Order: sequence, then C-alpha cells, then structure tokens
Amino acid sequence: MRASERGGIPARGAWCKLARKRTEEALQTAPRSLTLATEVTYLKGVGPARAGVLAERGILTLEDLLRYLPFRYEDRIHFTPIREIRGGSVITVRAEVVHGSLGGFRRGRGAVYYLTVRDASGVLYCRFFHGNYLEGRFKPGQEIVLHGKADYDTYRPGKLEMINPEVELLAGSAEDSTEVGRIVPIYEAMGGISSRMLRRVIHAALTQLTASIPDELPEVLRGRYGFPPRRAAIEEAHFPPPGANLEALNAFRTPAQKRLIFEELFYYQLGLAARRREAKQERGHAYSVREPRIREAVKRILPFKPTAAQKQVLAEIAADLERPVPMNRLLLGDVGSGKTLVAFETAVIVMENGSQAALMAPTEILAVQHHLTARRLLGPAGYRTDLLISGMKPAEKREVLEGMRSGATQFVVGTHALIEEAAQFKDLGLVIVDEQHRFGVLQRKRLMEKGAQPDVLVMTATPIPRTLCLTLYGDLDQSVIDELPPGRRPVETRVTSEENLPRVWEFARGEVKKGRQVYVVYPVIDESKAELKAAVAEYERLSKKVFSELRVGLLHGRMKSDEKEAVIESFRKGETSVLVSTTVIEVGVDVPNAAMMVIEHADRFGLAQLHQLRGRVGRGGERSFCVLVTPKKQNDEANERLTTMVRTNNGFEIAEEDMRLRGPGELFGTRQHGEMGLRVANPLRDFDLLEAARREALLMIEGGPSAELERLMNYLGPGWKRRYQLAAVG
Ligand code: ADP
Ligand code: MG
Repeated sequence: MRASERGGIPARGAWCKLARKRTEEALQTAPRSLTLATEVTYLKGVGPARAGVLAERGILTLEDLLRYLPFRYEDRIHFTPIREIRGGSVITVRAEVVHGSLGGFRRGRGAVYYLTVRDASGVLYCRFFHGNYLEGRFKPGQEIVLHGKADYDTYRPGKLEMINPEVELLAGSAEDSTEVGRIVPIYEAMGGISSRMLRRVIHAALTQLTASIPDELPEVLRGRYGFPPRRAAIEEAHFPPPGANLEALNAFRTPAQKRLIFEELFYYQLGLAARRREAKQERGHAYSVREPRIREAVKRILPFKPTAAQKQVLAEIAADLERPVPMNRLLLGDVGSGKTLVAFETAVIVMENGSQAALMAPTEILAVQHHLTARRLLGPAGYRTDLLISGMKPAEKREVLEGMRSGATQFVVGTHALIEEAAQFKDLGLVIVDEQHRFGVLQRKRLMEKGAQPDVLVMTATPIPRTLCLTLYGDLDQSVIDELPPGRRPVETRVTSEENLPRVWEFARGEVKKGRQVYVVYPVIDESKAELKAAVAEYERLSKKVFSELRVGLLHGRMKSDEKEAVIESFRKGETSVLVSTTVIEVGVDVPNAAMMVIEHADRFGLAQLHQLRGRVGRGGERSFCVLVTPKKQNDEANERLTTMVRTNNGFEIAEEDMRLRGPGELFGTRQHGEMGLRVANPLRDFDLLEAARREALLMIEGGPSAELERLMNYLGPGWKRRYQLAAVG
C-alpha cells in the first residue's frame, strides 16, 4: 500500500526536478580522476565476476564501456496512467506490484508467470511466457516500471494486459535519478548484468571520468558537421539532458549520437583507405589464363555445360587472375546455383600455373562434400586433391600436411583446420571461402596469410547489403550467378501446424514408396545437450513408431566425423529413406533423390536459414516439397514470416525480407562488427554517416601526407595495418 499512502504516484514532478539536480551535482562534485584508459575493475560495482562478463565482450577499459551505448531510451518523466492506456499502444507504466506467481503448465517450454500491478488509476495484468526465471522475484508493494505493448485480453474484454513486457524494479529510494524522472537509457543486458546495473556502472564511470578527455576528431570535421565535443557527446548519448528529443534519440540521430557514430566510422574508413593505398603497390600472382592448354584443362573437368551466368562469372574471375594485383572477389549465387563448379574452374587455372588452391568450408560435412566433388571432377584430370579436417586420424593428417608443404597436394579442401599453425603451403595461390558469413574475418585472414598475396574468392548465398560490404570489406568486387542450372523446379512449400503431422508423415511415406527420400529437420541450433536430446527423441519416435517399416537415419553435429560420413553416405546411396537431422545438413549435403523436407518448429529458424535448408531438396529436377511445421498456437507475425517461404524460392528476396524482419546483426553476426571494432555504429542504420565518413577519409588520404594525417594514424595505433588488412583485401 505504499504507493497509495503517498497518494498514488503523483508528486513526481517535484522530485524529478530534485533528482535531476542531484545527478547534475553528482557529475560536478565527484572526484574525477579516472581516464578513458582506466580499467573497468576500478569502478564501484565491478568485481571480478562482472569484469569477466564485460571482458568477454571486449570491454576492458572505461573507453570500451562508454562505447557500449544504450539500444533504446525510455521516457520516464511521463508515465502513462493505467486508466489511460489504449489497447495496442506501446507504453511505459510506473506501478506497484500487487501479486506475482507462476502458473500454467510446467511443460517443456516453461511456465507462464502472472503479474498483477496497479497505480493510482487502475489495475494491469501481465503474462510472461517461459517465466520460470521470474519466480520469487517480485514482492507486493514493490515499485516497478513496465514497458511494452498493452492490449485487451481476447477472451476477457475489458481486461488490459501486457505480454512479456520489459520490467525494471525501482531502487528502494525512488530518488535514484538514473532510473526515473528523466529519459532513461536502456542497455542490452549481458551475461547476467542487467540493463539497470549497466546504467549504474556507466553512470559511475561518467561521474569519475576526468573532465577533459582527448578528442582526436579533426577540428574541421567537428565544425562541418556541427558535432559537440567528445566528452559531452558521450555523456549525452548515455544520459540525455533534460528536454532531449526522445524520437531522435531512439533513431540514434541526436548530434551527440551522430558524432560518436561518425567518429567510429571515420577512423575505420581511414584505416581502410590507407591500407588500400598500400595494397595497390603490392604485387600478387599474375597467371596466364588465355593459353589453349589452360582453356582445355578447364573444359576437361566440366561434367555438364556451364550456365551462361557461370561462364560470365568465370570470365570476370579470369580477368582478375591475369592481373598482377591480388583478386578480391565475392561470388554471390543462390543456393544450388552452381558456385562450386566455378570455384573448381578457378582452381584449375591456378593449378595449371603451378600454384596451390585451398577451399575452406564452415563445417566438416560441407568440407567432406566438397572434397568428394573435387575427387570426382579434379581427380580424373590428374590433380591431387586432399581433405584436411580436425576429425582425421593423425597419420592421415600428417600425410596431407606434408603434401601441402611439399606442393604435391595441389588442391586442399578443409575446415578451420586449414588455418592451424601446422598447415603450411609451398605456394598458396588461391583461397576460396565457402559460405563466408560464417567465418570470422580474422579466420579468413589467417588463411590468406599462408600464401603470398593469394587471390581470394569468397562464395556466399546471402547477398550482403552494399553498405555492410563497404564497411566490412572495403570495395570488394562482386560477381553474381543469377540463374539456376536448367531443369530445376521450385520447391513446393507449405506451412502447417503440428496437429497435421500424421498427414505429413503419410505424404512422406507416399514419396518414399515412389522411390524418393525425405529429410526431417529438427531445430537443434547450438547442439547443446538438452536440444540434442529432443532431436534424438524425435528420431526414436519416428524410427520406431511412425516409420517403423522404413530405414531411418540420424545426423547431428556431435557425432564423430566418420559416423557422420557413414550416415550421409548411406542416405546418398539410398539405403536410408528418411534422414532425421539437425541443422548440420544446412549446407553442402547434395542428394538429388531427396524430394521432400519436413522442418519441425520452423518458427524457430530465420528465413535465410530455412532457405538454405530447403535448398537441400529440389536438386533432381522432379517435383519436390518442403513442409514447414509450426506449433499449434502460432502468432501471426511468425506465420507471416513463413509465408514468405511459400511465396518465393528466390534466396535474394528471402534474405532481404529476413533482414527487414530481424536486422542485419542476426544475419551476419554482430561478432563481425565486433571484430572490425564497430561498437557504436550500425552500418545499415547509419548509412548516411558511413558515406560521409568514407568521403572524408578518402579526401584526407588523397590530400597526401600531413601532420593531421600522421597524428590520426598514430591514434589508430600500430595495430591498424593488421586490423585493416583483411578489410582492404577481402
Ligand atoms: P551452390 O554451391 O551454388 O549452392 P552447387 O555448386 O552445390 O550450388 O550446385 C548445385 C547442384 O547443381 C550440384 O549438384 C551441381 O552438380 C549442379 N550444377 C552446377 N552447375 C550446373 C550446370 N551448369 N548444369 C547442371 N547442373 C549443375
Ligand atoms: Mg554450395
């Protein structure tokens, strides 16, 4: 009853002002002795455990910490009184806990946590799915802030509820001015450090940071773009001053935010441009590509007539190989468009010139597949091809490594085993990387360093937005295979819910009777024990009950290499009719007789991933099917997402939609941004600033040596060359 004893929640205005005054005072009077280089462990509230979590994200110093910006800002000056909430609106409510408890079925996916809260004007209900973690967290009378969408319960008109809102317990003393009475920064929680804790730690950091900090951004740029000084920008991006524009903040377009984004991109582009200027002076292999002997050699390996698109792309690649500057090319082509064939043709040119070629694949399964294809196509033409994966027998491995070192091995396919210390080449002239966005940039760079300026071909089925491409790789040349081999039919795709599974299995049985094969994919994403257990249980059920008369195989990532190979081989040969698999089959498995794929819990996959999976069927030119199975109760959003799959078989369209729905981070992995040192900027959101930063960086480099440029390159540090090497050369 505390809130009502105070007469509800009003009287806010008064203490808001007070609170703000205190923050400002705190900022002015606290001892300011820490610098940007101070380690975060010097901050109150950061003990060894939290420091460890921060370090995992690369946050070691105050500077790192202060570059961890909020992902959203919340207006906690104007709360919406519960009575005034309109259904469907996104609101922030400040209320008091009435009651909280766990209910619903405690089955697999977790229970529902029910929370009732009220303010002076009314009562609001909340439901949290998978709410086990909330048990015991709220006590009656506690003050909390809720943020999210409020709606009327469909079954009980008039009952207002919020589903899975964001919640924050307010501190015992409501005067803590970092939490209410202002626009409050909301941080993405990390490994048990809540948004609220981060807010406190960052506030402490700002309070103790020396009043003046170095600002390396050239004066003229600051003036041209009207950027505030660095210290003020950092402060305002974390704790916006009174009167700040909430909309601009949430669009990351206040002057303070723009400045921080710009400077990060500017330094990055400066490094890229400097590196590119150097790279132009470097010499790589210049191969001969026109000699009849070489043309003949390429023709000899072709199992079928290349498509016009494949021919065009090979011509583009050949032109690169001919020039003494290292090739740096991205090969973009939808799943099944025949990128591998082009890669092999490229390898033949390089091998005919006496150099070695390496193909790096993200999974063992894919490496093995590529190796089999290489044996089939390159072997008869007399090239020695080998496989290098970590799961090999030591003796075999030694032999392959020896072949690579002596030059006897001309073409090697492998996983990241290729970048281990032991892997050395006599003369690595070509690096091919398949499904590139799965590799960290650093891994790719390590492989490149095994040769002297090797030519690089990166293959991917996911189009990279130009902005992201510019940022991550600099100017990378692109080739596109925009045509599928003849005779392909689109995969007929349906979305259905769990209760129809018996009919789906019947249909699958029919396909098997026709002599075709079926994949059943189960969403094991990180191959954790619990997830694997579910997949294995499903396999047991299918093989013993549903398809007891058929041969069913099981494939997952935790199996040993030779087990995996045996399972795939038996499926390829048609000995097993149904293959239950985790997402390990996503790339590479190529069994033309497989005509149907059932994907369970399809709602848990991203579209791009579903497309990759679906690409495993429809390779034989006959009618083929993909069934996306969803839980009984499925929200509209997920359904809408899945209908994209029904509508189109075009991977580029699907990738675009996926990006629109989930953002590029999910698709390309924020890890890469991290590796490239981008913390504040988001290349897609900040396209305008990226272009501006790029323009300014180029101007600066083209202006030739200057004291300013030297100062900036010093600021980037001695490591800049290494850091940007990859970006500039692929
Ligand atoms: P991607 O790697 O682009 O997804 P693949 O290189 O694995 O595609 O090719 C998919 C399938 O198409 C393979 O079975 C391959 O043998 C076949 N293929 C490739 N190019 C052609 C072509 N020009 N004509 C007929 N089939 C082709
Ligand atoms: Mg491929």
